[in-house]
Amino acid sequence: MSDITEEDVRAEVSGWLKANWSPDYGLVEWRLKLIESGWGAPHYPKEWHGRGLPVKFNVIVDDEFSKIGAVTVCRAGIRTLAAATIIDHGSDLHKEKFLKRVLTGEDTWCQLFSEPGSGSDMAAATTRADRKGNKWVINGQKVWTTSAHKADWALLLARTDWDAPKHKGLSYFLLNMRQPGVKAQPLKQMNGHASFNQVFITDAEIEPELQVGKTGEGWKIATTTLMHERRGAGALRTWAVASKRKGKIYEEENAEIATTMEPYKWYPQRAGRVDLLLERAKATGKINDPIVRQELAKVLTLSKAAEWTAMRARAAQEMGRPQGPEGSLGKLLGSHVARAAARVHTSLDGANALLTGSDGTLEGVIAEILVSVPATSIAGGTDEIQRNIISERILQMPKDSDEFAGKPFREVPRNTVSKVS
Ligand SMILES: Cc1cc2nc3c(=O)[nH]c(=O)nc-3n(C[C@H](O)[C@H](O)[C@H](O)COP(=O)(O)OP(=O)(O)OC[C@H]3O[C@@H](n4cnc5c(N)ncnc54)[C@H](O)[C@@H]3O)c2cc1C
Repeated sequence: MSDITEEDVRAEVSGWLKANWSPDYGLVEWRLKLIESGWGAPHYPKEWHGRGLPVKFNVIVDDEFSKIGAVTVCRAGIRTLAAATIIDHGSDLHKEKFLKRVLTGEDTWCQLFSEPGSGSDMAAATTRADRKGNKWVINGQKVWTTSAHKADWALLLARTDWDAPKHKGLSYFLLNMRQPGVKAQPLKQMNGHASFNQVFITDAEIEPELQVGKTGEGWKIATTTLMHERRGAGALRTWAVASKRKGKIYEEENAEIATTMEPYKWYPQRAGRVDLLLERAKATGKINDPIVRQELAKVLTLSKAAEWTAMRARAAQEMGRPQGPEGSLGKLLGSHVARAAARVHTSLDGANALLTGSDGTLEGVIAEILVSVPATSIAGGTDEIQRNIISERILQMPKDSDEFAGKPFREVPRNTVSKVS
């Protein structure tokens, strides 16, 4: 398989699609067929629904799907991070239980990392997991949890040892969100959506086999999840966009977008909608304004550079290098692109960019871009945190000093009250 070429992949996937694709399939029925063929996630291992192909071929495979409008496996949201983390660190039981249902879209996932007192400083989590009999019992509060109100399962970071130093006392679990001790309360955002939540966890239970890695390895595993998030989850992550095509499968996919995928419908806007810029510049006639043209050219150039940075990250992944700081570079660049694109949208639309809903340009899409773009600089680790990672790991600058490094966590001052026993 190592000397397989792009042409081979293109020919094979298009041949398979010609023989198998039909919009008359049910959504899960088609995705199961796709998973069986390995073309749903070609970079997954062969024994786990993939073809063991280098991730660079995903673009070719996607291209063949989009040429004929074939539906792919489910990729929106935290599910891709759950799958990537399970592939890297999960047991065979985790892979067996979860991977297929991630790809079919039957299970929805969320990421229970951030807490009221620990966002950037994620290792300061105080949600606790205590071993009682043959169960882990979870108590605490998480916040900003995207899709928690729709989720079946969660990636959970919780403290299992209060005497170990901050980063060493955490463990990683897969939490069933559909149990009485878990309560998700949506929070309204400034763009009008309510895609994330505060989550209260009271005596929720986890079977020991749903722990990922060993007790105390939570920080290492959560870092992998974040690296995947910053890299775009192995080039497979996309956001939910409804199709106008006709057929049973498109109706089911659009229903999925309107329900479980609903929290992600503003995500293309938060990335700045670079794809709309040229078209809007022509439509408004501002393409002839030299200043706007210059700004437009800058965004398109930056956006291309971001694409190439993502390709470099992918190449590193293919060479078997562990998740590295390239994800942080890409994420920071993504924030720059989003902000620059929002500025150009404003120059193109003027005051109209402020009008929402049907009064606004493109049914309010431009206004939604303006109030959604700030999220890009926060979600998945803020711009400042990416800069810290880049300065320490790439530029080899000295680390932030931490007078409590190595001290037992229970002795480290925190900005939230939490019962330590
Ligand atoms: C759209 C969206 C979706 C999200 N989804 C999820 C989710 O699904 N699951 C989840 O767990 N979390 C989620 N988050 C939360 C996100 O990960 C946190 O908001 C983020 O990590 C920042 O943490 P914080 O909000 O507590 O800010 P803080 O950590 O309190 O930061 C406040 C400010 O201080 C700066 N700062 C903090 N520490 C440093 C430092 N060491 N050096 C320099 N500057 C620093 C920050 O950059 C920021 O500007 C989401 C956030 C958004 C916006």
